[in-house]
Amino acid sequence: MALIVQKFGGTSVADADRMREVADHVARTVRRGDQVVLVVSAMGKETDELLRLAGEVSVIHPGREMDMLITAGERKAMALVCMALHHIGVDSESFTGSQAGFLTDTNHQNAKIVDVRPDRVRASLDAGRVPVLGGSQGVSTDNDVTFLGRGGSDTTAVAIAHALGADACELYTDVTGVFTTDPRVVPTARRMSAISFDELLEMTATGCPKPAMRSVEYARTHGVRLHVRSAFTWQEGTWVDEEVPDMEQAIVSAVTHDTSEAKMTLAGVPDQPGVAATVFRALADLEVNVDMIVQNVSAQGVTDISFTVPHADLARAMEHTQRLATEVGAGGVTSDDSIARVSVVGAGMRSNPGVAATMFETLAAAGVNIQMISTSAIRV
Ligand code: ASP
Ligand code: MG
Repeated sequence: MALIVQKFGGTSVADADRMREVADHVARTVRRGDQVVLVVSAMGKETDELLRLAGEVSVIHPGREMDMLITAGERKAMALVCMALHHIGVDSESFTGSQAGFLTDTNHQNAKIVDVRPDRVRASLDAGRVPVLGGSQGVSTDNDVTFLGRGGSDTTAVAIAHALGADACELYTDVTGVFTTDPRVVPTARRMSAISFDELLEMTATGCPKPAMRSVEYARTHGVRLHVRSAFTWQEGTWVDEEVPDMEQAIVSAVTHDTSEAKMTLAGVPDQPGVAATVFRALADLEVNVDMIVQNVSAQGVTDISFTVPHADLARAMEHTQRLATEVGAGGVTSDDSIARVSVVGAGMRSNPGVAATMFETLAAAGVNIQMISTSAIRV
């Protein structure tokens, strides 16, 4: 008997029919003798809809009320899925994040898990029931309802899998697994049967939309085996696990892209200690998520620093950095929001030279000019 966490995304529970299919799938898993803990996202585009409503009623969005509002989406879904399970004779009960023992910090709309105390969930399993958890939610150390952020249901699933010592965590979605590249852009993209935590983490950090990066980090830290698969075809998807030494390991496993960031350049920065610290501390305090950072070789005591920020943060980041530029004695700040980042990812890169050269030749042949380059051990 295995203990399996099954998480269903918004499209997988979008309407009554989809919910009944989910219930059937859970029933089959239970009847084959396994224990299941279910985690559900809000139905379809419900989270977006709730956010839109909040925007319509007010320009003031207290974090506490936003989290109360958004988590209602998952709460609705979990109760309905539970009823669908009862309908086919599977005993189940739903749990909010708080009831499921998800203790978080007080950072509303993007709360971090502090501890998972799964006593009630375990008791529910022991009683032969299927616990159904609302995803992406918890209760803060101040006793308020919190939301773990967009895509947070994946993290809920991984965290409960870890807390219960589950055998696997299945993330059901609307694609059949993790692909070598975005199939919407490249129709010949292939589904991978397996990938390592490290590779998937690099992929999610550079544009692969699912699963949520945070959940992959959590899974890697705690060694929770993931299985990313489709709730529409139910076929085997992609297993995510520790890297296995494999003679035939691909040098490049995947190509990702990201068009959600803009580039900023701080020009003529005095080449002395503390300047980068000042600039990036200020951006960090603004909660701007700075990504690639490249500093040039200095000439005549000044240098340029370029970095990328999410489009949504560009205006704020520009305004602030412009002000700081004067303070730190920099020449000026420019930005470019029509950039794209392309990354190649592969664990085999560690031991195979020439990957970067091949990538740059490919871009050159396509007439693409490179503005910034950064690498990790398994990514260019
Ligand atoms: N429903 C939430 C969102 O769309 C959480 C989740 O689906 O993971 O962000
Ligand atoms: Mg979702």
